[in-house]
Amino acid sequence: MDLSTPLEQIFRQLSPKQKSGLKNLGLKTAEDLLGHFPYRYENPADLKKIAEVITGEKVRIWGRVQKIDFEKTWKKKMNIAYATVEDPTGRIKMVWFRQPYIARMLPAGSCAIFSGTVASRKDGYYIANPLYERVACSVVPEFTKEDSSRLQPLYPSTAGLSSLWISKAVVKVLALVKADEFLPEKIIEKYHLPTLQTALRWAHIPKTEEHSSAAKKRFAFEGVFLMQLMRASQKEEIKKTAGIKLSNIEALRDEFIKLLPFGLTDAQKKSIEDILSDLKSGHPMNRLLEGDVGSGKTAVAACAAYIVAKNGMQAAYMAPTEILARQHFETFSKVLGKANIKVGLLTSGFSEKFPSKIAREKSTHVSRSQLLKWVREGEFPILIGTHSLIEKKVEFKNLALAMVDEQHRFGVSQRGKLSHKESGMPMPHFLSMTATPIPRTLALTIYADLDLSVISEMPLGRVPIDTKIVPPKDRNLAYEFIRQKLNQGEQAFVICPRIEPAEPSSEGFMQAEMKSVKEEYKKLNEKIFPEFEIALMHGKLTPKEKDETMRVFRENKIQVLVSTSVVEVGVDVPNATIMMIEGAERFGLAQLHQFRGRVGRGEKKSHCFVLPSSYSADIFRRLKALTEAKTGFELAEYDLEFRGAGELSGRKQSGLSDIGMEALKNLKMVEAARFEAREIIEQKILGKYPLLETKIKELRMEPLHFE
Ligand code: ADP
Ligand code: MG
Repeated sequence: MDLSTPLEQIFRQLSPKQKSGLKNLGLKTAEDLLGHFPYRYENPADLKKIAEVITGEKVRIWGRVQKIDFEKTWKKKMNIAYATVEDPTGRIKMVWFRQPYIARMLPAGSCAIFSGTVASRKDGYYIANPLYERVACSVVPEFTKEDSSRLQPLYPSTAGLSSLWISKAVVKVLALVKADEFLPEKIIEKYHLPTLQTALRWAHIPKTEEHSSAAKKRFAFEGVFLMQLMRASQKEEIKKTAGIKLSNIEALRDEFIKLLPFGLTDAQKKSIEDILSDLKSGHPMNRLLEGDVGSGKTAVAACAAYIVAKNGMQAAYMAPTEILARQHFETFSKVLGKANIKVGLLTSGFSEKFPSKIAREKSTHVSRSQLLKWVREGEFPILIGTHSLIEKKVEFKNLALAMVDEQHRFGVSQRGKLSHKESGMPMPHFLSMTATPIPRTLALTIYADLDLSVISEMPLGRVPIDTKIVPPKDRNLAYEFIRQKLNQGEQAFVICPRIEPAEPSSEGFMQAEMKSVKEEYKKLNEKIFPEFEIALMHGKLTPKEKDETMRVFRENKIQVLVSTSVVEVGVDVPNATIMMIEGAERFGLAQLHQFRGRVGRGEKKSHCFVLPSSYSADIFRRLKALTEAKTGFELAEYDLEFRGAGELSGRKQSGLSDIGMEALKNLKMVEAARFEAREIIEQKILGKYPLLETKIKELRMEPLHFE
């Protein structure tokens, strides 16, 4: 059996719940399942024996549920669940408050690893609100042996598909399939990597820590190597393609600079030079412009757009949301309008043009079909919009420049969609922009197909944002401070780490205590700020609902916006001066920095309050880095070093697996993987490795991850 065998063919008796669980986790084939790695291995040797627990100690124990019951206290009508749990050495009680579903998740006879703090009562020891993860009952015999060392894999799970089910399924699949090695033998030997088949076994059922880390090393190497190979081969291809010719480039740049109401920073000038040399190179530009929030990327993009427009060709600018598209539409209209350049706006909700016939400084609604017709006829040199721009109906007459904001990956095929429906038009120049700070190793790997320009300085005259870590006792002071600012007509964001109140069982350990936006919204709305308008924002709202909420917030009809991380990108509400971040230790530093970047955009002094939901020296040290004047890039590097790649923003869109991301910490390995990939490209010997070549082709077919 090979790796592409569908799981439904291997497991013929799947229940509808299991099927939807597999779908949730994105597992279709044997390969997908084997690529679903444990997030952790439980070492039975690290578990505490129940007979040995003492009061006050934080423990992890293995136990079989003997009995589980729940009752409602008559006074407070609170659900309390009790379980008696045993291991071969003794018994202990578990108590959960307000978690009625526990009994369903942990029926009598099931086994789990519990973690929590031991307390004692007259009738013995107990643990209140322990976190738990169900595991195979077969760990028991291992556990009782003194020298037991078999590691128990714990998998990311979902409703209908427990870690336990996954671990059994993996064992079965491992026995059935044969995984062919696709890495060149030379590389396997040179870096002492386990072969694919061995690595798969070691990743899922390691006998020792060494096995699991060798497997990890292999998959990490593989991830970086394949990514690099794929991107480098894309770059090769683009280098062979002829680019669209533009003339008068320098003179047009000088004209453009005169249109701006400010002088460019040196970093902006340098980025513009990079772009000009691309435009002159004879090949399509393929550049990523990285710059911290507010560093002024739009002006750089507008310069390129101006040059294209004055050459009688078209430029398209794609933003991730309607709000941002409108923001850019207004900026472009204001600046380029002075040079009589027409600008169009196209989103799912709007089609507009600038200037309006009647008022030269204003934009006006036009019918969608009329706007599309004008674009097709080349009447509009600049079109700004959302994903609507890559719909089939949108045709350009002569698109010479495609720009994408906050959308790191924009593949050749998307670019193809933007550029032309009818054949004959050459590939347009491409400029991607991001404020997501990405450490250099990561950037070089996942953007190996792009050239990089970095805007490393901010325009002068920004009022710095005051950042404070707020300890629990000062929470009310923070609220009072915010109330004052709201009374002065300013606005606030409150960010929380998740949407629903927690159900710990479905996501495994440690995620139980995060603040949910819904709870927080209720509290602020009813208790803390009843006199103000408060709105709720999270990723489960439709794009329309999100944009509508942002619109009323921009208009100051709402004073406080309680949100999950969805406000992370690009939103500009200059009147918002407060950013309050709950559960701050749950976010990566670079992401916290992004949140903070939502304020401090107007003339007023802005404040960022950072509220961790738990404390430790490490947490404090990390958050402290945020209060010091550091750029997003420095913060991203800091997180990569101290916490690993899991903290990096943009990892979802990177196309690199979690293990590949983790690998980025290991500079030497990244360098090695990049070196080997480049060797293959430069010597043009990919054809010598047919399995590898196929793998790369498959990867290139994979859809890109749009948010
Ligand atoms: P980002 O890089 O986050 O996209 P923007 O391009 O939106 O940043 O610029 C942020 C703000 O800074 C805008 O209001 C813009 O007009 C202003 N700006 C850009 N460049 C300069 C500059 N060189 N001097 C002063 N203000 C600038
Ligand atoms: Mg921007």
